[in-house]
Amino acid sequence: MNRTNIIHLLEKKINREYIIEDEMMNKHTTFKVGGPADLYVIPRSEEELVYAIEVCKSQNVPYYVIGNGSNLLVTDKGFRGVIIEVYRQMSDITVEGNCITAYAGALLSKIANTALEHGLTGLEFAHGIPGTLGGAVTMNAGAYDGEMKQVLESATVIDDKGQVRTLSVEELELEYRKSIISRLGYTVIKATMCLEGSDKEAISAKMKDLMQRRRDKQPLEYPSAGSTFKRPVGHFAGKLIMDAGLRGYQLGGAQVSEKHCGFVINKDHATCQDILDLIHYIQEEVKSKFDVQIEPEVKMIGER
Ligand SMILES: Cc1cc2nc3c(=O)[nH]c(=O)nc-3n(C[C@H](O)[C@H](O)[C@H](O)COP(=O)(O)OP(=O)(O)OC[C@H]3O[C@@H](n4cnc5c(N)ncnc54)[C@H](O)[C@@H]3O)c2cc1C
Repeated sequence: MNRTNIIHLLEKKINREYIIEDEMMNKHTTFKVGGPADLYVIPRSEEELVYAIEVCKSQNVPYYVIGNGSNLLVTDKGFRGVIIEVYRQMSDITVEGNCITAYAGALLSKIANTALEHGLTGLEFAHGIPGTLGGAVTMNAGAYDGEMKQVLESATVIDDKGQVRTLSVEELELEYRKSIISRLGYTVIKATMCLEGSDKEAISAKMKDLMQRRRDKQPLEYPSAGSTFKRPVGHFAGKLIMDAGLRGYQLGGAQVSEKHCGFVINKDHATCQDILDLIHYIQEEVKSKFDVQIEPEVKMIGER
């Protein structure tokens, strides 16, 4: 990629301060690993986001949109191309009646707290998921019997042709940890969730209960990307890994959490390669012991 040319084009609409060169991705993933991205761009409006993607597409430069990086692994060599961050700078939340509309960069915890303030129930499950709305729509994030599909009304996206379109929940094709957005490489700009009126104390109590369950079961004190693997049909990944005798198994700085075997954690200055090697080892062990193929839930990008 001709870096000077891309910067020159991006600068026409995006302040230079928000176009960063050789940005270390370990600052932008909850796993705390990842080498440099050639360019790291932070659009501050829908117009800037559409423009950044337009530039990458027209110049044939690889790009990847991220939120809070809480389901993301970036290799140690980093990403050749442009990372586009949709997070704090695009995170406004508005409420109209029982519906909340938020930009893709809003954190789920903030949206769930907004729902609580307005006495709206349905998003309690999302309160403890440390991602943005954009990441959650793309992944159809879910927990404790809740998932984004249950609350989403519509999402405004940039499609694979660069067109801005509003898709209904049906058109989003939300399934277990996937959507039309992940399938076709769309970008979420904003989304609307419609909820039901309820008692604030009951909402707050449910949020606290679910958060406590996370603290009790999950190794939140270590960097990770949550559950490393998708739930295989008819099984639980964590149980298969535990039954394979891998609790606490460590490769380099990466470890199968002792607290929850479904989590690979960055125990001690792990590299991305440590984590990838461990993921691979777990897959092989589970396959050979139980003949079940487990697939990573976490997204992996970057130069190998
Ligand atoms: C401690 C911990 C607990 C977790 N618990 C849960 C849980 O209970 N349930 C659950 O489902 N997940 C869980 N996760 C995983 C993660 O938080 C979710 O998948 C979350 O939805 C990812 O959001 P993000 O903004 O961090 O996305 P990122 O990690 O930045 O990106 C994830 C994917 O979404 C895409 N993406 C992000 N933003 C956009 C956008 N605006 N437009 C298009 N694509 C976009 C990226 O390209 C990438 O493919 C957990 C993670 C951690 C660290």
